[in-house]
Amino acid sequence: MDFARTLTLAPDTPFNTPADPWTPPSLRLVCLDIDDTLIDFTAAGRCALATLLGRADLWPLWERVTDRHTALVVSGELDYAAAHFRRTQCFLDELGVMVDAEHVSGFEKRRKELVRRSWRLFGDVLPCLDWLRAAGVRLAAVTNASGGHQRAKLTDLGLARFFDHVAIAGELGVAKPDPVMFHSVCATLGCSPEEAAHVGDKLHTDAVGARDAGLEGVWLDRGGSDHEVVPEGVHVIGGLDELPQLLVSEFARIGVPAQR
Ligand SMILES: [Mg+2]
Repeated sequence: MDFARTLTLAPDTPFNTPADPWTPPSLRLVCLDIDDTLIDFTAAGRCALATLLGRADLWPLWERVTDRHTALVVSGELDYAAAHFRRTQCFLDELGVMVDAEHVSGFEKRRKELVRRSWRLFGDVLPCLDWLRAAGVRLAAVTNASGGHQRAKLTDLGLARFFDHVAIAGELGVAKPDPVMFHSVCATLGCSPEEAAHVGDKLHTDAVGARDAGLEGVWLDRGGSDHEVVPEGVHVIGGLDELPQLLVSEFARIGVPAQR
């Protein structure tokens, strides 16, 4: 082949044309964490423990013990019911409360009743979800919790109607910040990671994990933490009321084009 001739005859090769400026992608999917992003779960959990045990300082221990047992569900070593029983048993053991299996079950049942009675949506959730739906964005709830009770929680609080998909770590066998969790949500809803954003209250689990998976990672820092150094490429908002403006500034177009 005469390469010189081939090159000469190539039509309108734009050797001297400057590269197109980068254009930001369209936003088609917003993923939201559930606990402490949409629902004030910590306040409900703290309140339940304080009511049952008469102490207000037990939440950090409860969280640590819960995280250990959630990991066992995600890895397939325990099912949801067994993990919750053992979590509560370990928690009571660490407090020095030695009780039999029947009392452990009774404590957990009462605790769940109290939590369910007191959990609340944050005040900025419904306006934000309304905005996102009106913009034509697909929505996914993405949680590291271990069981299907998360769906009941969304239904109880009137949120189920907003979401196209609910991804639960305990059902998928993988948890945030593993990129597989984020990529499975994108694949389920037919979007690529660069067309998606994920918002959550945990800097590393939610925002950094999403960024590393190729999504826009948004840290919802409701408490205004001043001790965290925010990693490069992670966005920070103080409330969900700030999310629409952030998304408009980061994406060229918001929403899924209507089918013709
Ligand atoms: Mg959370």
